[in-house]
Order: sequence, then structure tokens, then C-alpha cells
Amino acid sequence: MDFDLNEEQRLWKKSVHEFVAAEVQPHAREVDETGQFNWPAVRKMGPMGLLGLTVPEAYGGAGVDSVSAILALEELGWACGSTALALTAHNGLGTSPLALYGSEELKNKWLPLVTSGKGKLGCLALTEPGAGSDLQGGIITRAEKSGDEWILNGAKMWVTNASIAEYIITLVRTAPEGGSRSLSLILVPTDSAGLHIGAPEKKMGLHGSPTHAVTYENVRVPIGNLIGEEGRGLHQTLATLDGGRIAIGAVALGLGQAAFEAAIAYSKERQAFGQRIADFQAVQLKLADMATDLRQARYMIYSAAWLKEQKRPFTKEAAMAKISASEAAERVCYNAIQIHGGYGYSRDFPVERYYRDARLMSIGEGTNDILRTVIARQVLA
Ligand SMILES: Cc1cc2nc3c(=O)[nH]c(=O)nc-3n(C[C@H](O)[C@H](O)[C@H](O)COP(=O)(O)OP(=O)(O)OC[C@H]3O[C@@H](n4cnc5c(N)ncnc54)[C@H](O)[C@@H]3O)c2cc1C
Repeated sequence: MDFDLNEEQRLWKKSVHEFVAAEVQPHAREVDETGQFNWPAVRKMGPMGLLGLTVPEAYGGAGVDSVSAILALEELGWACGSTALALTAHNGLGTSPLALYGSEELKNKWLPLVTSGKGKLGCLALTEPGAGSDLQGGIITRAEKSGDEWILNGAKMWVTNASIAEYIITLVRTAPEGGSRSLSLILVPTDSAGLHIGAPEKKMGLHGSPTHAVTYENVRVPIGNLIGEEGRGLHQTLATLDGGRIAIGAVALGLGQAAFEAAIAYSKERQAFGQRIADFQAVQLKLADMATDLRQARYMIYSAAWLKEQKRPFTKEAAMAKISASEAAERVCYNAIQIHGGYGYSRDFPVERYYRDARLMSIGEGTNDILRTVIARQVLA
């Protein structure tokens, strides 16, 4: 690792690596096969700061810098895609908007609970059955004021962590006329009457990261559960997603790194035609491409996080980093399976799981096509 990490960041990466190697990675296969969320490890993450990475210490978080937060998510991705996705959704989507825009009352009430490991997690519901990429035009879940309450009605789709969360920060339409000022974020406790969380979705991978449809049937929450200003929900969401894209890219990078390490180890053990397959140039070329892909993705991810930390514009760079890391991870996982031959297609080896888990990273938090439109808009401006 020659990216210019400071001493504190290097030590942090090392300590997170040691923790996930002991508590998360050994359970990754079981988590994938059973679909059981790894609560025992996640409970221990509270005191380590992994449940409130960038949340200020005053609210129970670790308050680490943006690069350190990314290093932690990369390590989690290396250890277990499912646990990493849940933690990414919790940190990047479930706590960030609350920490950045929430009232003191909301922050004091919820953040210490979800960052400590004593309570459940947080999550963010943007996507709906009929709207994912087009949030501004497509969102139909609405919230209406009634006295000192909001009443929510509608449906959300693909909500990571909904069943293991204390609350769902929900993007709703609060003004009927549409436009960028018609959406708001509202915190909805998961024990609210009228909130229904569906069964876990049956997914291709990430089986230990629960994903749910959620419906809101006259769900009443206090007026103070509005996050920040009314009508600022789209702005808050887009800012949250910029950070989330670097985070999901970091998970992809971790998955790719794990696949690369598995391929290196296997290529040195497996014999064919009287020699280790690592000595065949065709295998070496794949390993070289994998190393190159990972190095490029790592620089893109770390530098986007660095820009974020410097409070410089990073929307374009976050989009580029997420595209780079998610597509690199997919190529690396493909090559890792190829190097494993038939065994790569077997569940007895982890590379098929890495491949399935990595596939989500070019879809979630803005598809890579949408991200290319974000980049194109900026380069043409
Ligand atoms: C495992 C998992 C976890 C998720 N977790 C969450 C979560 O926690 N919270 C949440 O809110 N959502 C979550 N999502 C939803 C995810 O963010 C959306 O699936 C994603 O944003 C795409 O939206 P969509 O599925 O509605 O696809 P659509 O928007 O319907 O897109 C379908 C296709 O059309 C393309 N497309 C659409 N518009 C354009 C355009 N203008 N230009 C070019 N191409 C376009 C897209 O790139 C895509 O290929 C999750 C999804 C999955 C699978």
C-alpha cells in the first residue's frame, strides 16, 4: 500500500483488518448460505466505531475522516460482502443524513442508539416499486401534515437493513406540485403503526444483507421527525449519495481484493502439466490485469474520499470512483473464477460468492449508466 495514508489511517486500517479477519471473514460463507445477519460481529463493532464512522463523537460516533471511513468499508468488503453492504447502508445512508441535517433532538435520540451496537441499525428508503433512477419525477410516497404529525402513505422497494433497523429515513413528496423542492426526508421509527416490512428479497448474492419492500399505511410520526428543512429532501439525498457512491465502491474494492488474494493462493497450489498454474503466462496475464484493476480502483476511491474530506467538490470523482471500482471488481472476480477452473464455479471456494456479491455494486446507489450521465453533464458544462 503506497497511497499516502498517514500513520493514524494505517493503524486504523490494520486494526479494522485484524478485527474483520477474526470476527467477520470466518462467518462469511455461513452468512451467505443461511441468510442470517452477523449480529454477533456487528454488536462488537459499536465500541470500535464502525457503526458511526463519520458521526461526530458527541453523538456516539467515531468521527473519523472520510478516507478512514472508506478504509474500514474496504476491509469489511474484503471480509464479507453482506456484512459490508449492511454497514455501508447504515453508515453512509442511515446515519449520514441524520448527522448532517437532523435536529439536535433527533440526533440525540437516535444516533447514540444506532452507533453503540446496543440498538439496531439505520437505513434510507429512496427507491420505490416504480422509481429508482428517477427520484425527482417518480416518487409517489407522500407525507401530509396533520396537526403536529406527518402522515405517510406509499411504498418503498429494496430497502437495505429495514428489518434490522431502528428507523427508516424515508424520501417523501411533501408538496404536490412536483419540482426539486417537493421532496423531504422524514425519519420513521420501524415500530410505527401502519409500517409494514416485507419478507427479505431473494437475491443473487449478498444473502446476509436483508433487503425489503416497505409499505406505509397512514403512518403517523411527530412533525419534528422531518430531517432538516421541508423541501430539501432531494438535495440532501443527492449529497448523501455522493458519499455513498465512494462507500459502495470501497466495498467492491474489498471484494475484488479478496478474489485476487484467493486467485494468487490457488494459482500457487494448483498443478497442471507438471507445474503450478502460476507459472503459465496466461494465468500471469490475468493476475497482472487484476492487480492493475485494483490499483487503479483504489486510487480512484481514496482520492474521491480525500476530496470529500477537503470539502472540495467530489460529485464527478465519486461517480468515477464507483464506476471504476465496481467494474474492476467484476473483472477481477471473473478472472479469479477463471483461474480456479471448475472449482471456481463451486460453492466450496469463495470466489463464486465474491462474484455474486460484487454484481450489485454497479446497480446500487445509482446505476453505472446514471453515473456516466452525471460525469458527462459535468464534463460538458
Ligand atoms: C441489493 C439491493 C440493495 C438496495 N438498497 C437500497 C436502499 O437501501 N435504499 C434504496 O432507496 N434503494 C436501494 N436499492 C435500490 C437501488 O438503488 C436501485 O435499484 C437503483 O438505483 C436503480 O433503480 P431501479 O432499480 O428502479 O432501476 P431503473 O431506474 O428502473 O433503471 C433500469 C435501467 O434503466 C437505466 N436507466 C434509467 N434511467 C436512465 C437514464 N436516464 N439514462 C440511462 N439509463 C437509464 C438504468 O441504468 C438501468 O439500467 C437497492 C437495490 C438492490 C438490488
